[in-house]
Amino acid sequence: MFKQILLAFDGSPHAQKAAKVAADLARQYQATLCIVHTYDPIPDYLGEPFLQEVISRRTEAADRVMEQAKALVGALPQVETEVLEGPAAEAILRVADVRKVDLIVMGTRGLGQLSGLLLGSQSQKVVTQAQCPVLLVR
Ligand code: ATP
Ligand code: MG
Repeated sequence: MFKQILLAFDGSPHAQKAAKVAADLARQYQATLCIVHTYDPIPDYLGEPFLQEVISRRTEAADRVMEQAKALVGALPQVETEVLEGPAAEAILRVADVRKVDLIVMGTRGLGQLSGLLLGSQSQKVVTQAQCPVLLVR
């Protein structure tokens, strides 16, 4: 049923749980797992040399988060990764569309500070706009 699964990973405890669920499903369905992580958009007004430095810092931090995600999902039939500029929900929806994924797995909450929220803004946007099933893990 699920052949292409997208895991949205920001390193938060909920996303770590989502990684375990996504990996388990990918194993059961022999699916390709595509892990998506986005870094914060880089402001256009930054000039050189700050621009290059900010880009390097953000992509290096993003690569470290991606390594954590890969370690959490473990051995799978096929794992692909996408490190992209945010906002996260837009990137997740775009990847889901381009890769024609048939399930998106993400956390209900992420790294945001507003712990009272039931649902983070990125999850809310994805669950409202995705064309495929979305599994939110708490
Ligand atoms: P908010 O960002 O609205 O302040 P939050 O951080 O608690 O609140 P979300 O950002 O919506 O909530 O996070 C929910 C889930 O969305 C995460 O568990 C993760 O699966 C996914 N997600 C959030 N940020 C990213 C990101 N930068 N890259 C990939 N996935 C992300
Ligand atoms: Mg967030």
